[in-house]
Amino acid sequence: MATPPSTDESWVLEPVRNTPKHFFFRMGLALILGFFIWKLKLDYVESYLYDLRVALRPQTEQALHTAAILIDPNTVAEHRGLPSAEDHAKVLSLLNSARPKAVVYVFNPKDLEGTDSQKRQFVGETRKFEQFYFVTNDLEMKGEEGKLRLPPPYESIRVFPGPKNTDTTIFAKDGVTRRMMLSYQEQILLHPYLAQQFNREIVDLTKVRGHFEFLDSLQTYINFMPKGRVPTFSFSQIESGQLDTSQFTDKIIFIGQDLGTSTKDYITTPYSRDIVAMTTTEMHANMVETLIKNNAPIRAPDWLNLVFTLLISLITVHVVLTLRPLRGLIILGASLLVFTVFSYFSFWPFGVWISMAHPFLAIFLCYYFFIPYRLIIENRRSWEYYQKHRLLQQVEELKTNFIGMMSHDLKTPLARIQGMTEIILKDETPISSPQREAIDTIQQSSRDLLNFINTILNYARIESQGIELNLQSKDINELLKEVVKKHEFLAKLKHIQINLELEPLFSMPVDADLLKQVFSNLVENAIKYSPENSKVLISSEEVNEKIVIQVADQGIGIPSDELSNIFMKFFRSKNAKSSPIKGSGLGLYLAKYFVELHNGSIFVESTPGQGSTFTVELPIKMETRR
Ligand code: ADP
Repeated sequence: MATPPSTDESWVLEPVRNTPKHFFFRMGLALILGFFIWKLKLDYVESYLYDLRVALRPQTEQALHTAAILIDPNTVAEHRGLPSAEDHAKVLSLLNSARPKAVVYVFNPKDLEGTDSQKRQFVGETRKFEQFYFVTNDLEMKGEEGKLRLPPPYESIRVFPGPKNTDTTIFAKDGVTRRMMLSYQEQILLHPYLAQQFNREIVDLTKVRGHFEFLDSLQTYINFMPKGRVPTFSFSQIESGQLDTSQFTDKIIFIGQDLGTSTKDYITTPYSRDIVAMTTTEMHANMVETLIKNNAPIRAPDWLNLVFTLLISLITVHVVLTLRPLRGLIILGASLLVFTVFSYFSFWPFGVWISMAHPFLAIFLCYYFFIPYRLIIENRRSWEYYQKHRLLQQVEELKTNFIGMMSHDLKTPLARIQGMTEIILKDETPISSPQREAIDTIQQSSRDLLNFINTILNYARIESQGIELNLQSKDINELLKEVVKKHEFLAKLKHIQINLELEPLFSMPVDADLLKQVFSNLVENAIKYSPENSKVLISSEEVNEKIVIQVADQGIGIPSDELSNIFMKFFRSKNAKSSPIKGSGLGLYLAKYFVELHNGSIFVESTPGQGSTFTVELPIKMETRR
């Protein structure tokens, strides 16, 4: 069963309306949403994304100016406890021979064990260094300079503030160390002080890359190297004297602990959140190395973050509301990818940290915020479509019923009229010639009317239920001859000569009734739309596995701008409408439909004023449309 194809395109759901008013309203909403997203505190996620970039960048750098000496479990095992002040004195004297730039104790020397004389011996060794410091987390406020002092006998050791800045209560609050302090209340801290001795550029702290002010301090981010990039030695290894200490010449040596017993000896880094991810000692070395190389990451300004967030909000809202869902998702995914790649390559190799959390959140929030909005609108629209469709269906049903009813009710009285005229004509009683003419006209008109009703009935039938082919093996030429015979009378009235040029054909399976209707329509049109004393040529032949039937006339022709419409239902050309020639405008629509049911095609060539040629092509091996 085949039904005519639907040409109603209003059923395709369209994106939401896009008038300038709607556009600006939506974009305004997107900007407001983007602005509020930008206002959110997302330090935790932002720092996590930063850490990812740190961990995923290729890192080949080594520490060149620092080294770490650690009191490790090995040292404790050898000393059966922590090394004493005397042991420290011995190590310092060994180091001293290498003339390091500076020695920094990461733990408090006052906690060293030993007798007073051993402690004094230790202090004596510390004095032999040009620079010897104990780095503390404590800070001196302005006016309190010199407050940080060690008790005797350590008072000669300079206590230098150089705190570790772990995000426990501020920023990411995730316990990771990412930042360092350069100065506090304009007093320089240990790390820049040491680094300046290698890199004169940063004598002016505002030349430190990525510096920013926070409360009373100047800070920057530590450009961490992965764990193990700072040359590290065991305390006992040095003490044994087996190590060549010349490698410490001109270096800054940090001496600390790696016992795994106290969390203050360790930090978590962007590389790892393991609680023993890196020793505090190595962290100090990383801080100084960052400053010497002056390669701290720069955090992109917040306004740039705002720009990206707003831009992404705008794109997302636009995409969600105006594109088809799958395409929208692809475009959003692509924007996300481009932004991620851009952020990654800004960080490596350029060391610029572009905030990603806000733009990411903007994509998700705008998406989830506006999708329901779109759904509501689409829902409403499909409801409207549904209502319209139902109404159309009802109208269509009414129309079909009406046509059916009308046609049947008309056919019965018409059949009676035809019956009566035949009785009169068969009757022997002589009638006058005007009477005979009147009866002939009645007969012809009722035949026309019946034809018309049958066409309408056919149309109503295929519109409501389609048509099933009733295939029988037939010779197309026979069908053509039958059709011509049926129209001979009409042709004779207009003195039109019908010529047949039929090539012999094999029989093929066709629906004879339907094809007869097709050919009838073509022949009837050829006669209808041709002047008197013209010719109509009907031909058939086999070309390339196809039967080609042509009906050519010398009639009024069809204007070229109307050629594409003549197979549409109820279409009648301007010529036809203005002429007294009657017609429903359904004949060619049905003809095309019937020919296509046979998998064939029908087309027309025409020159106005000269004539038209209709061509029907039927495949010999037909696979019917079902
Ligand atoms: P109608 O019942 O009006 O003939 P058709 O569907 O058969 O309806 O034809 C549609 C229109 O195509 C006609 O109204 C007429 O304008 C044009 N047409 C069809 N056949 C011819 C022809 N042989 N010569 C000129 N115009 C034609």
